[in-house]
Amino acid sequence: MFIRDIIGQQTVKEHILRLIQENRLPHALMLWGNEGVGKLPLAIAMARYLLCSDKQDNDACGACLSCKQMAKLIHPDLHFVFPIVKNSTEPKCDDFLEEWREMLLEHAYFNYEQWIDKIGEGKQGQIYAAESDEIIRKLSYKSFQGDCKVMIIWLPEKMNVVCANKLLKLLEEPPEKTYFILVSEQPEQLLPTIVSRTQMVHVPCIAFDDMEAVVGTELARVANGNYVKALTMQQQTGSSKPHFELYRKLMLAVVMIQLPQLKAWAEQLHESGREEIKLFLQYAQHITRECFMMHFGLPAINYLEPHEQAFAAKFINYLNANNIEFITHTFAKAYEDIEQNGNGKIVLFDMGLQLMTKMKL
Ligand SMILES: [Zn+2]
Repeated sequence: MFIRDIIGQQTVKEHILRLIQENRLPHALMLWGNEGVGKLPLAIAMARYLLCSDKQDNDACGACLSCKQMAKLIHPDLHFVFPIVKNSTEPKCDDFLEEWREMLLEHAYFNYEQWIDKIGEGKQGQIYAAESDEIIRKLSYKSFQGDCKVMIIWLPEKMNVVCANKLLKLLEEPPEKTYFILVSEQPEQLLPTIVSRTQMVHVPCIAFDDMEAVVGTELARVANGNYVKALTMQQQTGSSKPHFELYRKLMLAVVMIQLPQLKAWAEQLHESGREEIKLFLQYAQHITRECFMMHFGLPAINYLEPHEQAFAAKFINYLNANNIEFITHTFAKAYEDIEQNGNGKIVLFDMGLQLMTKMKL
């Protein structure tokens, strides 16, 4: 995670870079704000910059030993504290370090629920009392290779009281050359004495334009500055290749009025089961609207892959203000029929016939 990988947040990024470059970074900083705005990725990018031995103007170099270790999140001077589930009498973050790295490397934007689902579905997450000794042990070492150590504490509000009090002691008498980066969604739940010992930096919701550039207009509108939410919705509406292929085949059969192809298509999708059909029908409504948006020159489909964009550019000629409502309604109606146990083959074939009546050049 580099600073340039963080979505939007230009003001916060510049502020943090300045603090580091001018040697004014306090020993404890708190990045606080809503879920999905990029606080944790920002904390990691910040740690990378701090530990980098060849800092560039706006980001870490990416080539030094430190940066290489950061790429795998195995830098010996970087420590993490995060909520975990109870797996023993003395649960410690290190027990879950592999899963933690995996989660972060796969996608640095995730929320508390997604993390807990990964390590112990249905359980409660906490930072347990045993962690306080771990924190002290880790910070008692000299830094291994750089000038400093960094400890990122994700969601300190989940900290057990014993642990919180030990942390407070550490913040009062910080170990030498150690930076704490607290990442909080509910700073009001923390001990006021902890909060007062940190420099608070608010990370606002991701600005609409920044979000739109990554996920497109439609998702940006509903995501409300929360990238985790946008990602979840993107997965639900499914922009996956199989769905796109199905859509392309269907629309080809429809505009060419090829009944045998339509029939084969309906049978094929029917084979994949009810849930899959429903996912496809959701995707179909979504991508139809996205293609229609192209009429107005709106950059709504930034997140379409190149092959999808090429198809959409030709396909929009079949969409117009007179049929768009009808088409999306036809998909929605088919979805309802499938939900109410309609026969997949018949519902899908009939849907294709309906579309044929309204999609002519
Ligand atoms: Zn570097």
